[in-house]
Amino acid sequence: MKDEQGEYQAGAFHEMFARGRASGRLRLTREGVAFSNDQGSVLLPMSGLKVELGGASDRLVFFKSAAEPAWSVYTSDRDILKDPSLEISLADRQAISKTRSLAKLAWVAAVGLVLAAGLVTLLLWSQRALLSGWLASKIPAEQEAKLGELIAEQFAGSKRVLSEDEDLAGDWGAMLAPLLEGVDGNRYDYDIVLIEDSVPNAFALPGGKIFVHSGLLLQAERPEEVLGVVAHEIAHVNLQHGTRAVLETVTLVVVVQALIGDFSGVIALAAEGGVALLTKAHSRDAEREADEVGWGYMMKAGLDPAAMISLFEKLGELQEVHEGLEDAIAWISTHPTTDERVATLEGKRDALTEEYAPLVFDFESFLTRVRGVLLNPEDDESPTENREESDEHTH
Ligand SMILES: [Zn+2]
Repeated sequence: MKDEQGEYQAGAFHEMFARGRASGRLRLTREGVAFSNDQGSVLLPMSGLKVELGGASDRLVFFKSAAEPAWSVYTSDRDILKDPSLEISLADRQAISKTRSLAKLAWVAAVGLVLAAGLVTLLLWSQRALLSGWLASKIPAEQEAKLGELIAEQFAGSKRVLSEDEDLAGDWGAMLAPLLEGVDGNRYDYDIVLIEDSVPNAFALPGGKIFVHSGLLLQAERPEEVLGVVAHEIAHVNLQHGTRAVLETVTLVVVVQALIGDFSGVIALAAEGGVALLTKAHSRDAEREADEVGWGYMMKAGLDPAAMISLFEKLGELQEVHEGLEDAIAWISTHPTTDERVATLEGKRDALTEEYAPLVFDFESFLTRVRGVLLNPEDDESPTENREESDEHTH
């Protein structure tokens, strides 16, 4: 800063100084730039004065003049450029503005980069469905399963797994086996789990893990109804609906983090996004597609596909009975298109030409045992006390 005498801390190059350089003071006058110290002084006339930026990061302002070619005076106080006494000739102004416009250019480039990143983000956002579809087609099955496991841990880690109960495991597997024979492709190892939850619901996670709530099982009158729902969920897995939904929520974050160069937390975010997915319904199209494909699995397995309809209808009736309690009936709360879906499936049923023999399975006895297990909570390995309220919704 200029001191009270109107002088700036300065330095000068001249061969009269030891090592060619000395510090001193600089004053701006109408005549020009005056430098002085106890060894000497110089006046660089305003006319023809050259002003240049130099030193590290252009921190120094140099003054030169053709009238005093042996001298070079400088100050580190860049405020001097704003000093009203400094009248710079047009040519010199251009020299400075060149430097300044470089700084300006850097600024414009920075703003441009931010804007470009914004545009890329916007573009990715608008194309996120496409992008997530593409990513889903590239993701290895093991990665999908890993993602599903991460979500499952967060969501169902504290729920009681009924299908692992020794009284139920065998029959649960036996009931599912015929359906699994009708499912084509072997990309996934399906893990269909029966958990204790009174909310009639079922949902699939990326990679093949499928949860069926005891509340849904107990609504069914025949095993085909449960299998119809499982077929629908298997279709969600195979069509990668959940995987795409998760990737869609994180694609943007992953890309933005990639732009910033920080990849930490992507995995955690993916799992978080996955939990968010549980609270969102699939799109109308995804549901229609899962119904269609699931229907095909039932037919291929030789199971009556029309059983899908009766459970959907039952769940619809439940909604009417519990008017205002939609939240408790998750399947319906996220399926406002149930009527439409039932109508579509009824059309398919009417077009069926084949008769389907009922599955040979003692469903009544199985349900009785399920109720028995539910009524006798084993207090060992069943950490149900920290269980959160069921607020998940699904498909
Ligand atoms: Zn669904």
